[in-house]
Amino acid sequence: MNGPKHHHQCCIAGGGPAGLMLGYLLARAGVDVVVLEKHADFLRDFRGDTIHPSTLTVLDDLGLLDKFLALPHDEIEELTADVYGEVITVADFRHLPAPRPFLVLVPQWDFLDFIADEARALPNFKLLMETKAERLIEQDGVVVGVDALGPESPLRITADLVVAADGRHTTLRESAGLQSQDIGAPIDVLWFRLPRDPERHPYRTGGILRPGAMLVMLSRQNYWQCAFVIPKGSLAEVHAQGLVHFRRRIAAIAPFLAPDLDTLTGWDDVKLLSVQISDLAQWSRPGFLCIGDAAHAMSPVGGVGINLAIQDAVAAANLLAAPLREGRLTPEDLEMVQKRRRWPARVTQRVQIAIQNTVLAPTLAREEAPEHPPAVARLLQRFPLLRRLPARLVGIGVRPERVRI
Ligand SMILES: Cc1cc2nc3c(=O)[nH]c(=O)nc-3n(C[C@H](O)[C@H](O)[C@H](O)COP(=O)(O)OP(=O)(O)OC[C@H]3O[C@@H](n4cnc5c(N)ncnc54)[C@H](O)[C@@H]3O)c2cc1C
Repeated sequence: MNGPKHHHQCCIAGGGPAGLMLGYLLARAGVDVVVLEKHADFLRDFRGDTIHPSTLTVLDDLGLLDKFLALPHDEIEELTADVYGEVITVADFRHLPAPRPFLVLVPQWDFLDFIADEARALPNFKLLMETKAERLIEQDGVVVGVDALGPESPLRITADLVVAADGRHTTLRESAGLQSQDIGAPIDVLWFRLPRDPERHPYRTGGILRPGAMLVMLSRQNYWQCAFVIPKGSLAEVHAQGLVHFRRRIAAIAPFLAPDLDTLTGWDDVKLLSVQISDLAQWSRPGFLCIGDAAHAMSPVGGVGINLAIQDAVAAANLLAAPLREGRLTPEDLEMVQKRRRWPARVTQRVQIAIQNTVLAPTLAREEAPEHPPAVARLLQRFPLLRRLPARLVGIGVRPERVRI
């Protein structure tokens, strides 16, 4: 390949939550890192805005928490669900053992800009925007670098380690010949925004369940971020029924939104998240590692994708910073990352699958409201202590990571 050649100790493809956090942590620990991001900036369609206590704990470890919380954000102490007309609290974050026991809603691009700015201040961190990793370079079965396409020209980057943090549509995982298993999901999600008048509208975050429909609403200062759950693959049917019908369905679930629904003027305002859950049996090869969505695409249930991606980054940095810095990285070091992180991803996916199959899919299939709310809802209503369990799963998750470098 023609074009400039560069060498770094670590080359990370993807400037999402996983890639930027890993790049920042490794550079902070003295590793020479380059992150390649194919977009020119971090502004893009909504991709989740929830920063959970597990991530706030990581930011606290890094001494960045107060600075991060100075960004405009919303704080959520509990999640509610309106289950066929009965409002219950499903998760109470106030009791979590974390420096800040609440969820933070902040646009994902603000979070990424924040981490990128902190990382850029480090001398051995480099972020190449508008640079797409195209394929791996191998020598004798070992990955030794990446061929990429920059804004002006192709470039070749050699590295002791190449990390695929390039999301669920990863290019590099395929290039490494690693196959992920698609576990499937019974739902898709339509995301849209509606104006919110703080005077008129209550501040609340959670779900509304009605026969045949489910809406999740995240309350921001002046808008609602809404997620409407549909059966897998039914987008064409929703489109065929038309936007007016769609608006009517939303108004039927949440009548207080009706006056603002005409702000949805076309299907461009409604984005599909094709829900995918995947598992990768082998995360690494000599010189190569997958983390974040490239290793495990998550269901949106619980809004844990960003936070798990960050947990992967922390675990990878804890395990790999010293071997990388000292030039003694082995394939076994890379396998340790999978050993530590695949299990929490799989456990979380199993819980998501159980909720999809026992709550979401049956709700969409239902034609009439049940006589009583489901047993789980009644238990959460009756025994407030139980609300700490979903809060723990969503807010902290299993096998939480702390920064140790
Ligand atoms: C509509 C939607 C809503 C979501 N809602 C939530 C939520 O509320 N809460 C939550 O926690 N999670 C949510 N998620 C999931 C969450 O966005 C992901 O789990 C999380 O971002 C994964 O982080 P990542 O860094 O592994 O991958 P990504 O965030 O996908 O980042 C990958 C990055 O790599 C870049 N890239 C891709 N290919 C290349 C390449 N070849 N070369 C260079 N760069 C490349 C991409 O541009 C991107 O910046 C949502 C996702 C979607 C799509």
